[in-house]
Amino acid sequence: MSDCLFCKIIAGDIPSAKVYEDELCYAFRDIAPQAPVHVLVVPKEHIPSCDGVDDGNDALVGHIFTVIPKIAAAEGLTNGYRVISNVGADAGQTVPHLHFHILGGRRMPDQMV
Ligand code: AMP
Repeated sequence: MSDCLFCKIIAGDIPSAKVYEDELCYAFRDIAPQAPVHVLVVPKEHIPSCDGVDDGNDALVGHIFTVIPKIAAAEGLTNGYRVISNVGADAGQTVPHLHFHILGGRRMPDQMV
């Protein structure tokens, strides 16, 4: 989508700190990290959020979940990490392109919210 921030990052029109890339997905460091390691993993195909996952793109999401542990290992997150995907306004989603936050490098709060 031409007006999507993450589509522009994937296309290289907006700079990012790339962590990983393959034919289906792209990962880069969050510009405002909330943990020592804060990486965003996004599908190259524009999907607005988890709400847009269906039978036509579920394999893509499954692929991302094979990539997440590889990124976590490469980032040295041997003691665990958190994966978050915000969906919609009540969750605080600010970029309407499906993305998974990988957060780690410190003990996360015991409560998720
Ligand atoms: P969410 O609030 O779940 O939609 O997450 C969007 C994330 O994108 C936030 O954590 C932002 O800090 C991050 N973000 C926004 N713009 C950029 C950018 N240009 N490069 C990297 N991360 C960004």
